[in-house]
Amino acid sequence: MNEIFLGSFTQQEPLSDAAIEAALAVMRHGRLHRYNVEADELGEAALLEQEFAVQLGAKYCLAVASGGYALATALRAVGVKAGDRVLTNAFTLAPVPGAIASLGAEPMFVDVTEDLVIDLDDLAAKAGHARVLMLSHMRGHLCDMDRLMQICDDADITVIEDCAHTMGASWHGIASGRQGAVGCYSCQTYKHVNAGEGGLLITDDEDIAARAILLSGSYMLFERHLAAPDPSAFERIKYDTPNISGRMDNLRAAILRPQLRDLDAQVARWNERYRCVEAGLRDTPGLRVIERPEAETYVGSSIQFLLLDWSADKVQDVLLRCAARGVELKWFGAPEPAAFTSRYDNWHYAPSQSLPQSDRVLAGILDMRVPLTFSLDDCALIARIIRAEVGAVFQGN
Ligand SMILES: *Cc1c(COP(=O)(O)O)cnc(C)c1O
Repeated sequence: MNEIFLGSFTQQEPLSDAAIEAALAVMRHGRLHRYNVEADELGEAALLEQEFAVQLGAKYCLAVASGGYALATALRAVGVKAGDRVLTNAFTLAPVPGAIASLGAEPMFVDVTEDLVIDLDDLAAKAGHARVLMLSHMRGHLCDMDRLMQICDDADITVIEDCAHTMGASWHGIASGRQGAVGCYSCQTYKHVNAGEGGLLITDDEDIAARAILLSGSYMLFERHLAAPDPSAFERIKYDTPNISGRMDNLRAAILRPQLRDLDAQVARWNERYRCVEAGLRDTPGLRVIERPEAETYVGSSIQFLLLDWSADKVQDVLLRCAARGVELKWFGAPEPAAFTSRYDNWHYAPSQSLPQSDRVLAGILDMRVPLTFSLDDCALIARIIRAEVGAVFQGN
């Protein structure tokens, strides 16, 4: 009898009582807009920014409506203009090139390696073509950040980090999002904290911070922020910075503050599950697990493995066989974009590029969510199912 997995890959945990209580308090007083505060009251959004800045060791923080909005705001705040080229990963998800396109700028894709990180040789080769790199730490895989920063510093490239999958991760002990000029995080349900929607942006640069705050729709209420630069930084730019509303509200901020306090504990729980699936997949013939570098502290909220150089038919077969046993895998080699998964050559608004190395790697990437609602037994079962089905197809059964 074949074992079948019956759990849901999209079910997150319920919110904690602390988060629910905090939300109820905001709903009871009704001041949901972040600037709707009483004299001397510190609003939830402002407190969230202050706490996240401290947690990450950043000078400034801004809470916004989504991770994608944080990315677009970061691009505007560092001075990207319509028509500019922006380097970014070939292996990422649609909000990343989408943020670039939202300014009328052009994504220029950099290859992905077999370790699923940005190819630093390709980055070095393309460094002369752009002033900004939007670096997506896709699926939580951190590249050699020391070498990346060296390449970008040498070429005078400003780095914006997309940390949608690395909130809680670090490289050589430096929190993800702290090496670039700006770090952007998502608080959307499928990421590492859950406000439904939401984003956070951090920086140590007072001009970037002031521009981002004005861009987000602060009107002239920026003095109500607790993780913002001195008012003089706003005086310099307040007549030239458009208001592109995308604020976070106090209800979401209230839900997020207790979750950020729990982040490290949640990361440990994700990683237990990740390591359980990884151990179950290791040494499966034809399947390659992604080795994690020693310098990297990751958050195993999803797992990827490679069926490198397999034919598309065989990969499809694995997907169908796993799905029939309740295991939902996503494939970056599918010809058509599906659900949340798409590929650089699906984004026709970007100038087309030929990236044979990325095509080979993407064609072999299988991707699976690891929600915290899975038990360790669930994780072991899922790994057994994948191992059996990969094995059966690999051996041609
Ligand atoms: C989810 C995601 C984003 C954007 O987050 P939203 O909050 O959904 O806008 C950015 N980059 C990557 C890689 C993501 O997966």
